[in-house]
Amino acid sequence: MEYEAVIGLETHIQLNTASKIFCSCKADSWNAAPNTNICPVCTGMPGVLPVLNRRVVEKGTLLAAAMHADLQPVSFFDRKNYFYPDLPKGYQISQYDRSLAKGGYMDVPQADGTLRRVTIWKLHMEEDAGKTKNDLISGSRRIDFNRCGVPLIEMVTGPDLRSADEAANYLTRLRQLLRWIGVSEADMEKGHLRCDANVSLRRKGETILNTKTEIKNVNSIEAVRTAIVKEIDRQSRAYEHGERIEAWTLEWDEDSQTLKKMRSKETEADYRYFREPDLLPVYLTDEWRAAILQDFPELPLARRARFMAGYGLPEYDAELLTAERSLSDYFEKAVQAYGGEAKRVSNWLMNDVLRMLNDSGKTTAQLALTPAYLADIIKLVEAGTINTNTGKGLLEKVNASGKSPEEIVRAEGLAKVSDDGAIRAVVEQVLAESPGEVAAYRGGKVGLIGFFTGQVMKKMQGKADAQKARALLEEMLR
Ligand code: ZN
Ligand code: MN
Repeated sequence: MEYEAVIGLETHIQLNTASKIFCSCKADSWNAAPNTNICPVCTGMPGVLPVLNRRVVEKGTLLAAAMHADLQPVSFFDRKNYFYPDLPKGYQISQYDRSLAKGGYMDVPQADGTLRRVTIWKLHMEEDAGKTKNDLISGSRRIDFNRCGVPLIEMVTGPDLRSADEAANYLTRLRQLLRWIGVSEADMEKGHLRCDANVSLRRKGETILNTKTEIKNVNSIEAVRTAIVKEIDRQSRAYEHGERIEAWTLEWDEDSQTLKKMRSKETEADYRYFREPDLLPVYLTDEWRAAILQDFPELPLARRARFMAGYGLPEYDAELLTAERSLSDYFEKAVQAYGGEAKRVSNWLMNDVLRMLNDSGKTTAQLALTPAYLADIIKLVEAGTINTNTGKGLLEKVNASGKSPEEIVRAEGLAKVSDDGAIRAVVEQVLAESPGEVAAYRGGKVGLIGFFTGQVMKKMQGKADAQKARALLEEMLR
């Protein structure tokens, strides 16, 4: 029997605001000692009142716009009631039936070149809860409230994904998008982007939705992929044996790479949602909304398509250059300064500048090698003023000194030596120093030309016109 997987993802996205959603505690307390980033509001002391952080609405609005969702002029906060030790108020402030945005979708490119449209069923603002930790030595449970009140957007997709790879692709694109529009650091290891996956199977061609299971505690894109593969496998074997799938909640155990049954699922009604009486409705006026979306950027997929259509870049280049917004901005600035074929800039960027970035751990904004300087270096090479080798070395020199390429070429005398006489003198010297290789070359080992050229370049500090050196070597070896 051929089965098809039906997967929906529920994500919690930590917004990168300075403070928490309803109090002035810092939003990010990664690495902070437990219970050091808390106050009476986020720990739910009696008598306190929450005050909404407007930045949360702004970042939520940016995200909703990026997901093509319908922004609501009025939305409400609700109480989601449940008892759990890490939730000191006994309820989470969330949004239920009147949330910030409705609908929306994201198109996700798949490996075969097609797009998978993933619909968005829910997009709302809410606060995070604390964290419980089992102390294995004392056998006690410890609670850290630092995360209480951290601003989140909960986003739930429709059951539109059909494989573990598609789910992983969605998360990869979502992470890219969140960083691109600047609303979240989206670091899964730090819990900035958390994901639960709903998985069910059906026979290929059917449109019904069968009972699903929910996978929790998957903290990396790879873990999501592996956990879904395993769950699809478990369910298909169960169906083959005529067993029923029950609506379990499964916890992913990273150490053993297995899924464990946590509990049978609650339903929404268990939460007794009702309007939060301590907060006013959120009025997203036309003016405010326009101000938030005023500098809304071109999104990664659109830019990727434009890089291919407008600059004639191969898909590989366009994909790499739009991985991060800052890199794609850098590329476009360099192309403008260069004025020639964009693919040349892409080659220099992907081969050399990306390596510099990776080696140094810097961002493009921190590079002393500006897009204009990169363009200058490419132009110097193309004009024949310096050779390619010198140009590559120049990237590092410009970046280390912040000086312009022309200045360094002048100061260090890096201009290419094309003068026949100067190269010929060095060629003679090299041939005189290597009688064995010369004999071997003349005996038929013509591959040695590379060795001779290398020697000449070395003696001339890489500044010789390599083609000329090679031609002279061949001539004299004959
Ligand atoms: Zn607080
Ligand atoms: Mn939630």
